Amino acid sequence: MAERVIPLYDQRAAALPAPRPSAPVAPDGRLLDRLQRPLRDLRISVTDRCNFRCSYCMPKEVFGKDYPYLPHADLLTFEEITRLARIFLAHGVRKIRLTGGEPLLRKHIERLIEMLAALRTVDGTPPELTLTTNGSLLARKARALRDAGLQRVTVSLDGLDDAVFQRMNDVGFPVAEVLDGIAAAQAAGLAPIKVNMVVKRGTNDDQIVPMARHFRGSGIVLRFIEYMDVGSSNGWCMDEVLPSAEVLARLQQAFALVPLEPGSPGETAERWGYAGADGRHDPALGEVGFISSVTQAFCRDCNRARLSTEGCLYLCLFAERGYDLRALLRGGASDAEIAASLAAIWGQRADRYSEIRATLPPETRRAARRIEMSYIGG
Ligand code: SAM
Ligand code: SF4
Ligand code: SF4
Repeated sequence: MAERVIPLYDQRAAALPAPRPSAPVAPDGRLLDRLQRPLRDLRISVTDRCNFRCSYCMPKEVFGKDYPYLPHADLLTFEEITRLARIFLAHGVRKIRLTGGEPLLRKHIERLIEMLAALRTVDGTPPELTLTTNGSLLARKARALRDAGLQRVTVSLDGLDDAVFQRMNDVGFPVAEVLDGIAAAQAAGLAPIKVNMVVKRGTNDDQIVPMARHFRGSGIVLRFIEYMDVGSSNGWCMDEVLPSAEVLARLQQAFALVPLEPGSPGETAERWGYAGADGRHDPALGEVGFISSVTQAFCRDCNRARLSTEGCLYLCLFAERGYDLRALLRGGASDAEIAASLAAIWGQRADRYSEIRATLPPETRRAARRIEMSYIGG
C-alpha cells in the first residue's frame, strides 16, 4: 500500500495579535458575539503531547518521534492559565474543561485543578470543572483529581475489542486499562462520567452496539461522535463518516430508545434514553448521546472558546488562526486590559464552520490550514 503523505502546516506560528482596545472593560458576564451567542464554556489545552496516536487526531505519519512539540517555556504556566480563567469567568464562563493532547500528561495537573476550583463565576458559584482524557492514566490519578476539586471526567474510548481499539489508538494500548480508569473515576465520585466514541466507518463501527450494551445501565453516558475534519493532518474524507442517524438506526435494532430534551442550552449532544418495558425512558438504563458536527451542525448555540497550550484563543474548532493572549500576559497587560481584549475578540466572532461546511467547495475545504485538535483540545 502506498504511504499516505500529509503535509503539515504549523499554524502555531500564525497567531494574530490580540487587540488592545484603549478603553478598559469591566466584565459583567453578558458578553455576546456577532450572532448573539454568549461565552459560557472555556476549554483549556494543557499540553500538546499525547501517549496515543489516534489516526483521526495525531496520526503517526505526522506526529512521529521527531515532531517538534512546544518547548516548556512556551506553555502557559498554571498561574497564567488561572489568571486568564478568572477573567473569562468574569465575562460569563461557567464551565471549564481541561483537555489536550492528553491532559493527564501535564505534570502536577492536580495543582492547576486546585487553583481553578478556587475561582468563582459571576454568580459566585464554583465553575463546573471537568476534563477530557484518553483514560490511560486515570486509574492512577482519579482519586487525586477528585481531591483537587475536579467534578467530572469524559473518557474517550473507541471500542471494546482490543484489536479494534488498538488500531484506533495505534500504540497498542489495551481496552482493559481504560475500563480500569473509568472504574476508578466512578469510585472516586467523578460523576456523571461520559464516554466519547469517535465512529469511523469501516474501522470501529462494529463496536457501536457492544459499546452501548456495555455501558447501558452503568450510570455512564456513552456519546457517539461523528468523525470530523478537524486539523489538516488526519486525511479526513466523508466516506469514513458514519452519520449519527445511521448509528441511531443500528442501535434501534438492538434497543428501544426514546428522544430526550436537551440537557442545557448549547449542549452539543442530542440525547436518547433507553426505554423500559412501558416504552418510556427508564433512567436506570440511562441514555446515549450523538455529537453530529458533520451532519447536523449546532453552531447556532456554540458558546465555547478554546485556549491553546501556549495561550492562543481560538473561537472555533475549525479555526485557522488564534489570538495571542500570552503576549498580553507576558507583556504586562492589566486584568482590565485583557478583559477588554477578550471582549473585542468575542464581540466580533461570527464563526459557524459546521453550518457552512457543505457549501464550501471541496478544494477550499482541503486547502484549509486548520489548527490541529491535539493543540486546542476537543
Ligand atoms: N486526549 C484526550 C482524549 O482523547 O480524550 C483529550 C483531547 S482529544 C483531542 C478530545 C476529544 O476529541 C476526544 O474525545 C477525541 O476522541 C476527539 N477527537 C479528536 N479528533 C477527532 C476527530 N477527527 N473527529 C471527532 N472527534 C475527534
Ligand atoms: Fe491523543 Fe486524545 Fe488525540 Fe487520541 S484523541 S491522539 S488520545 S489527544
Ligand atoms: Fe462552534 Fe465552530 Fe463547532 Fe460551529 S463549527 S459548533 S462555531 S466550534
